[in-house]
Amino acid sequence: MKIPVRAFHFKLILLLLTAWWALPAAAGKMVQFAPIDALLSGVYDGPYTVGEVKRHGDFGIGTFDALDGEMVVDRGVVYQVRADGSVRVMADDVHTPFAVVAFFRPEQRLDVPRGLAMKDVEAFIDAALPSANLFYAVRLEGTFRRLKARSVPRQQRPYPPLAEAAKQQAVFDFEQVPGVALGFRSPPFIKGVNVPGYHLHFLRADRKAGGHVLDFRVERVTLSWQALDDFRLLLPGDGEFARADLGRDREKELNQVERKTDGKP
Ligand code: ZN
Repeated sequence: MKIPVRAFHFKLILLLLTAWWALPAAAGKMVQFAPIDALLSGVYDGPYTVGEVKRHGDFGIGTFDALDGEMVVDRGVVYQVRADGSVRVMADDVHTPFAVVAFFRPEQRLDVPRGLAMKDVEAFIDAALPSANLFYAVRLEGTFRRLKARSVPRQQRPYPPLAEAAKQQAVFDFEQVPGVALGFRSPPFIKGVNVPGYHLHFLRADRKAGGHVLDFRVERVTLSWQALDDFRLLLPGDGEFARADLGRDREKELNQVERKTDGKP
């Protein structure tokens, strides 16, 4: 039987569309630029550009060359929260030594019970996740009753280790603040490469304040999350990364830098 060419094309398009719809939801992929231990050891300049980071994700966290503030990537826009508290949108040619991104396509949305503190919110999210052994992109959006965030000041050479640099961090206290706390939950076995557990950065709803999240209590917040079962780590091929001493266990420094609220020893 001879199928008219136009009808044949129509059938082919229908077939392709059906095949596309029938595909399972694409598994999320996390792309990371340099291991966290390189940052902890003072490798603050990277070969990667903001443009490259955006090609690998529209959602994420990180920092910028010379450790110049906290990076928040939200809906494809890369923001810098500086130690003076200011926020600006970063150009594609700015460099970063460390960033983690994904294309965020949430699998589930849940209201977080009102009044929960950060630790309890983490337990609430843990209970919602199918396994502790995957990566997750996590987004908390709404109003926080209070939230404590920090940013680190731009460093001068010779660069000190992050535990030293973080002593100069600026801490911002927010109350009844609308905004988004976003980032990743990483499995325990990732130690040395990334931060095990939660690592969130905050951006106020007006995009004029934010920082690395140290603590919070929620008012009315919605959780959305996505499992990431594909992980890619990009390593700088040369420069300070190549010469850095990454043989040490830096877990103590990591806890001091990522979780302490005053940055002091
Ligand atoms: Zn951070």
